[in-house]
Order: sequence, then structure tokens, then C-alpha cells
Amino acid sequence: MKKYLLFTVVILTTISNSAQDTHHSHQSNRKIEFPDIDGFKTLICDLHQHTVFSDGAVWPSIRVQEAIKDGIDVISLTEHLEYQPHEKDIPHKDRNRAYQIALDAAKNHDLIVINGSEITRSMPPGHSNAIFITDANKLLVDDAIDAFNEAHNQGAFVFWNHPNWISQVDNGIAKLTDMHKDLLKQNLIHGIEVVNEDTYSDEALQIALDNDLTIIGTSDIHGLIDWKFNISEGGHRPVTLVFAKEKNKNSLKEALFNKQTVVYFNNILIGRKEFLVPLITASINITKAKYIGESSVLFLSFKNNSDVDFMLKNNTNYTFHDNIDVIIIKANSSTIVRVKTLIKKSSLNLNFEVLNAVLAPNTHPNIDFKITIN
Ligand code: ZN
Repeated sequence: MKKYLLFTVVILTTISNSAQDTHHSHQSNRKIEFPDIDGFKTLICDLHQHTVFSDGAVWPSIRVQEAIKDGIDVISLTEHLEYQPHEKDIPHKDRNRAYQIALDAAKNHDLIVINGSEITRSMPPGHSNAIFITDANKLLVDDAIDAFNEAHNQGAFVFWNHPNWISQVDNGIAKLTDMHKDLLKQNLIHGIEVVNEDTYSDEALQIALDNDLTIIGTSDIHGLIDWKFNISEGGHRPVTLVFAKEKNKNSLKEALFNKQTVVYFNNILIGRKEFLVPLITASINITKAKYIGESSVLFLSFKNNSDVDFMLKNNTNYTFHDNIDVIIIKANSSTIVRVKTLIKKSSLNLNFEVLNAVLAPNTHPNIDFKITIN
């Protein structure tokens, strides 16, 4: 999809009642949708999921069907290697089985399935996912560090799961232990979950930024996506948007190691500025810019082609004819904003703080619109 703002000005013959021009075309499907950004494809990834092959409640093919319904590009079924509560009913020696079944179920679909496993320990080091592994069985070893080393030998991308998990960290504050610092020093951990299931961690985001780790968000689904994330009510699973040169495993892996991600969680975007800002500007286009009659009130139509309702705080001195300084640019629809520019101008710069996006704890990105008016 298009990246840049549209500067095309459509001549409106009458703008008698601008409110009627606001059409909220509510999302008609559950597919998660974000535009590509300049030079990259936006791949929607859920890289932490479970099935009956560890402590999940569904067969791997159900994960594939859920992903297809949600418009997901990449999944990984990351079964606990060390924890198999369904072992008596589903005995199996091969820890690659969930991956193989999912791969087979996805073979006629445009869905990438990555082989992954969860290395499951008490703290430290807690739980971690190794993805892009070649053989899960070899990761099943006594010593946690040996498992990380084996993942490394297989060329895996490894991320620390739910570092804020209150079952392992009483106060919910993600904090690196000495073991984690060691693993980082040896380049055995490459990413960290800033979002897991229904939780977000400012501290995990700060750890990612301080230690040059990839920012990850996952569903960690065990039951059904539909029930857990209230899909019928318009909910969605948390995902990692990965900005890859192409839609294939190699590009994806390269992009993950290069930290080219933004997490989409509830109505929030979390990521590094260099990808977060292009994603937001690719999502919002100004499709109309026209003075209303003889007035110096400018009619603007913002078209949002993403799934996020953007909360924008006005950073300029202009005031709006129809709103306070915070405007909501609704997902997958057009929103009208009327700006009092005091004199008629041929161009206008607007700047907003995006309140429901963070590039660091408590730090919101700013976005610019350079608008040409005919
Ligand atoms: Zn898990």
C-alpha cells in the first residue's frame, strides 16, 4: 500500500455540512491491517503460541486457521520443551511435531510457519522462545545455558518471554538478572517481550532500548484466540509488525535481528522511532484540503488505513473549529478536522504528538503533515 501522504486536493463543490462527510466505515472483517512502509513489507507476526503438544488446548491446525482468519503473515508454535501436561493422551517423542503439523496445514496458504520452542525455566532465566530453530529435540537439555547455546548453534533468534510475569516477578517489574546480563553479553538473547497476552511493560521496553534488543509482542495463546481476545467484540491479539524487505523467512529473520519491529497491542503502537513514525505516517493520508467558502477555516479529511484509532495532540498554535486539541483519527475510515488558519494559506504544516504510541516509556512520537492547499 501507499506510504506517503497524499497531497492531492480534491475540489469540493459544496461543503455545506462537513460532519456528513465523515464516514466511519467500520471494519467489516477481523483481519489485522497495516500499510507497508517505504522499502519494507509490513509482516504481521505472532511468534509465541501453544497447542496440545505442550500446555495449549487446541490442535496445531487450529492455530493455522486462526492466523488465516486474522490476516497473520507469520506464526510460530513455541511449545514448552520441558512441560507437557497432555503427554499421557498425546505421547510423542519428537518436539518438532506441532511445527510439522502446522506447516502441513498451512501449505496451501500464504502463511509462514517458523519452527520454534519455549525454553522453560524458573527465574532466572525464566521463559524464552527460540525461533528459526532446525531441531527442537536438541534444545531439550538439563542446563538452561546449554539450551541457549544449542539455539545459537542452530542460528535461532531468541527472545525473553513475559519478563514482567507476576508468577515469576512479584512486583511485575521487568529487571535483568546477572544471568540475563551474561546471556546478553554472549549474544544469546536478541529480543524481549514488551507485550505478552494482556500485559505491557514499560520496564521491558526500557531494557530493549538500553540493551539493543528487538521489541516483541505476542499472544502467548493457550486457548482460543476468539475467546481470549474477544474477536467478536472487535478485539485483536497482540502482534509484532516486522518490517522486512520481502515476505519470506530469510527477510523476516534479518529484520528481527535488525530490530525492525513495532508492537500492536490493544489500541497502542510500541516501537523504535525509525519504524514507528513511518508506520504512522503511512497509515494516515490527508485526502482533502480546502477552505470552506470564503472563510479562512480549512477543511481537512484524514484517511486512516490502519487498525489503530490514532489519538493526536495538536502541537501548533492553530485551534480547531470542531474539536479540542486532541483529535481521534478513526481506524479504517476518514475523519474531518476543520482548522482555523486565520488567513488563507497555500500551504500549512501541522504537527501532532501521537498519544497512543510510544518510542520509549512516557515518550510519544511526533508526526508532521505538510499540506498543500489549492
Ligand atoms: Zn509460552
